[in-house]
Amino acid sequence: MANTTPPADDPAVLARLRGAAEASGSPVRLLPYGAVTVGRAGEALAPIGEMADAGAAGFSDDGSPVRGGALFRSALLYAGMAGLPVIDHPEDLEQTHGAEASEGIVATVLGLHGWPRAAEATAVARDLAILADVIADSPGARLHLTHLSPAASLDLVRAARARGLPVTCDVTPHHLALTDEWLAGARRWAWEALDGSGRARDPWADGALVAEPYDPSLRVNPPLRSADDAAACLAALADGTADAVATDHAPHSVVAKAVEFGLAANGMSGIETALGLILTAVDAGRLPLTRAIAALTAGPASVLGDRLVHRPGLIEGAPADLVVLDRSDEWEVAASSLASRGKNSPLIGRSLPGRVLLTLAAGRLAYRDPSLA
Ligand SMILES: [Zn+2]
Repeated sequence: MANTTPPADDPAVLARLRGAAEASGSPVRLLPYGAVTVGRAGEALAPIGEMADAGAAGFSDDGSPVRGGALFRSALLYAGMAGLPVIDHPEDLEQTHGAEASEGIVATVLGLHGWPRAAEATAVARDLAILADVIADSPGARLHLTHLSPAASLDLVRAARARGLPVTCDVTPHHLALTDEWLAGARRWAWEALDGSGRARDPWADGALVAEPYDPSLRVNPPLRSADDAAACLAALADGTADAVATDHAPHSVVAKAVEFGLAANGMSGIETALGLILTAVDAGRLPLTRAIAALTAGPASVLGDRLVHRPGLIEGAPADLVVLDRSDEWEVAASSLASRGKNSPLIGRSLPGRVLLTLAAGRLAYRDPSLA
């Protein structure tokens, strides 16, 4: 993502990022996005063609939406000429001003400012309408919508794809497994918080509150939604409306999080718990294993396109991209077990299924479980 400091908004910054990745000696390939606008400020288009030449994998102002429709249209046009996607974080900032938690009973009871679902769905609708116009002039234009959270957003994408629009999307592990009732202190999975008719249960009536409320590690953008929205994220993954699971991994320092809920930095340290959360949904019978694995592997590769990711699976004699995991083992999420320096995870103390034993990237060892030493 381009929301680094400084923002990745010109070819020199991208060259530095790629150079640093190469110098690190890691076999993991870095595929950086360029910013859509200069400084991610939403005012002037960044040099999209030059950044495409410098190896940008796509363009995104993530962290912020591209506010102006005309700018967004130009970005789709120019990125489309380079055959690259624009990745939008769909949010109408006017509707989310001061918002803290998904609009609903939990936000109301906790006294947190509501975050309307419509703030996302209206931005998704705008993006899709502009995309439909642009493909007439720029047939290579492609839109990817990231971390969709309410059912309404996924319904819009499903309908757009049925009309043949070149749009893809992802959902995060936390939006499909966790819900807003965690803010009040519940710790059950999203599918356990559904009643018989598919609506969110009342955690107070159920006596489901077991932890302290207002844990700032649960503050994310977009916010955790209700159990029925989480079910819609799972359904979208299962039926292919959502192409990929993306973690929206956001490591933060203790200082940025150890403040009152509404002032905490947005984001969760999520890359290491992603697989475990997805497998938890699989084990609960909420997602077919084949779809879960595809959404973590081939799905994201197809979003980025053949130009950048051209490893169509395991081929004898070719360098492998491969993860070996033990489905029968589980591991406990602890601050000390996370390699990330961001320990801002509400899953600390939980056990998750699927211990990763080995990772190969481009045929080289990228990770080995300490037990295999
Ligand atoms: Zn975002």
